[in-house]
Parts: sequence; C-alpha cells; structure tokens
Amino acid sequence: MTDPTCKACQGGWPREDHFIADLGLSKAYLHEDQFFPGWTVVAFKRHATELFHLAPTERIQLMEEVNLIAQVVAQAYEARKINYELLGNQLPHIHWHIIPRLANDPAPLEPVWRVQHEPLLRSGPDLRNTVQRLQQAIQKAR
Ligand SMILES: [Zn+2]
Repeated sequence: MTDPTCKACQGGWPREDHFIADLGLSKAYLHEDQFFPGWTVVAFKRHATELFHLAPTERIQLMEEVNLIAQVVAQAYEARKINYELLGNQLPHIHWHIIPRLANDPAPLEPVWRVQHEPLLRSGPDLRNTVQRLQQAIQKAR
C-alpha cells in the first residue's frame, strides 16, 4: 500500500542511487549527507506513519532489520555508539535513521540535528564503494 502524496512511497526519498539492501519489510539506504560517516536510513516499504499502525509481527521484524543495519554500521565504522532516530516530522512515513557516532565525533553529546554543518554529499566511485562495502558486510552478518 502506497500513499500518492508521500515522497517515500513515490520513490523521491531516500535516493535510489544510495540503495544498500532489501531487508524484507524495509530497505536500507546510505543517507545522502555523510558528514556523520555511515549514516544510514531504514525505510519501511509500505506506507505507515506510526509504529502502532503495524501488526505486532511487523514491528518485531522491523526492529530486527533496524538491528541488523545498526550492527553492520557499528562494526564497519567502529562506532562508539549508534543513534536510532524515528521522527517523521518532515516525512511522515516510517524510516529509521541509524547514525554511528565515532571517536572523532565533533559533538558527541548532541543529537546530529543540532550539529550545524554543510552536508557532505558523496557520488561516483566514492558512493558506490561505500554502498558495496555495506552490502558485503550485510551479507556476512545475515
Ligand atoms: Zn509513504
């Protein structure tokens, strides 16, 4: 089920060239802003805006999928901590932000949204290499 007015349902975000993996109920993407390296998005495939709109079995599976990505990026980036964020104020379609916070984090006590910065966009071989590295790590972890 998709919502014709929803940017996530219509393929407008996250970007397809940042696609990492189909996890089952959700898909993982590299976030377009890599100022925080390894920032990943896990987007629910069908349109839903709240966790309580999901069946209990879907909630459990979705958390397993979020957990898999968190574990993979934690290892790949040697994170000190993973941040999990499910907001949806700007885009009301269930998507988790999985954000590794590294040893050299510029503001380790702040949520990323409060850290002013220029977005660090990646493209070309740089983007493809990062996506491939995470794809291989997911295959090993599954
Ligand atoms: Zn949607």
